[in-house]
Amino acid sequence: MSPESSTPPGPLGLFGGTFDPIHNGHLRTAFELLRALKLAEVRFLPTGNPPHRESTQADAAQRLAMVRAAVADQPGFTVDDREVRRTGLSYSVDTLTELRAEFPHRSLCLLLGMDAFLGLPNWHRWQEILELAHVVVAHRPGWKAPTQGPLGEVMVDRGTGAIRDLHGSQAGKIYVHAVTQLEISSTELRQMLVAGGDPRYLVPDSVREVVRQLGCYARRQ
Ligand code: ATP
Repeated sequence: MSPESSTPPGPLGLFGGTFDPIHNGHLRTAFELLRALKLAEVRFLPTGNPPHRESTQADAAQRLAMVRAAVADQPGFTVDDREVRRTGLSYSVDTLTELRAEFPHRSLCLLLGMDAFLGLPNWHRWQEILELAHVVVAHRPGWKAPTQGPLGEVMVDRGTGAIRDLHGSQAGKIYVHAVTQLEISSTELRQMLVAGGDPRYLVPDSVREVVRQLGCYARRQ
């Protein structure tokens, strides 16, 4: 059966990030959105190697290994390594263009944390992103959507409070959804790991084991 068979599957969630390392804040957010929005799948897309990476950061293959370990036991979670395989700079608009060509009739939902959403106007060809996918913003309860500037305008034009809009069309809406906030950051995890700390309960045990095996955050001698 082709992926584009007669019964359209639910929306495809796309969760991009550096994932250096992936942690429970990322995973809980993806899980709550998978369930609440009735997504068919959440696809994790680790970015390729940033041009100026610090010596203690995990490289792309290591970050990919951690993401694979993190999602292995959750049905509906998958990994897409296209940005890791791509050489040169990786832009979300290019990835979404490829995915749209692969899934011409499917609802695509780009999943963003609030911090990432607020930075969206700085992204390469950001307005085209909304022609290619919906944007789902995972936010802190009580947070108000921007009302001014380019994001304020786009919220007026494209904002929706209805999950059915994400199922009934392929792209172009912005939907804001409250998720449990876990104040975990990859930056703080890297600092903890380099200092010899234990990330237990902040990352899945499977990720903790990959970090231990690869030694990717060990202090360089
Ligand atoms: P860093 O500290 O290295 O910047 P990060 O975890 O903030 O890492 P990414 O791995 O690139 O950054 O984040 C990928 C996505 O996950 C972004 O959309 C970001 O908003 C979201 N995100 C990051 N941390 C959390 C968290 N604790 N809870 C929910 N979402 C998060």
